[in-house]
Amino acid sequence: MEKLFPININPNLCVRCQKCSYSCHPKAIFFRDSLRFVDYNKCEGCLKCVDVCEHNAIEVISIEEGKLTDFKIDTDKCTVCKKCLEPGFCFQNLFESKIDPETRKTMILFNKDGMDSCESCLKCFSNCPNNAIIPVISY
Ligand code: SF4
Ligand code: SF4
Ligand code: SF4
Repeated sequence: MEKLFPININPNLCVRCQKCSYSCHPKAIFFRDSLRFVDYNKCEGCLKCVDVCEHNAIEVISIEEGKLTDFKIDTDKCTVCKKCLEPGFCFQNLFESKIDPETRKTMILFNKDGMDSCESCLKCFSNCPNNAIIPVISY
């Protein structure tokens, strides 16, 4: 079932008041490079953080409720722009490219072996310019 979850915390609107962090019971909001992100696997979708943010800095998306376990690349949408391979796109550099042995074309893959280090921030999902990175949610 789809439900609303916080995703991006807009650094241009966020004033670092920390009200969202204080309001988050499961401590799903974390810092990287002095910016705030939400760990989807910890978030309970209560939206208290959104309620307390006076600057409307927290973007909300509708997504399946469950546990993030993998990412698939939609090859129809992926243009192999390689943005996901750039430093900083994924905190853990979990995207890679390889040559398809049959077509000899470059393709993008998610490194599922690195899933333990994924911070479930869904930054990749929201930042792929072609919406080609699809979260796999289990129940
Ligand atoms: S929706 Fe609730 S659980 Fe999720 S980050 Fe906001 S306060 Fe925390
Ligand atoms: S950022 Fe998106 S469109 Fe670009 S290569 Fe990666 S998956 Fe493909
Ligand atoms: S959710 Fe996406 S961007 Fe965030 S750490 Fe995991 S693979 Fe990287």
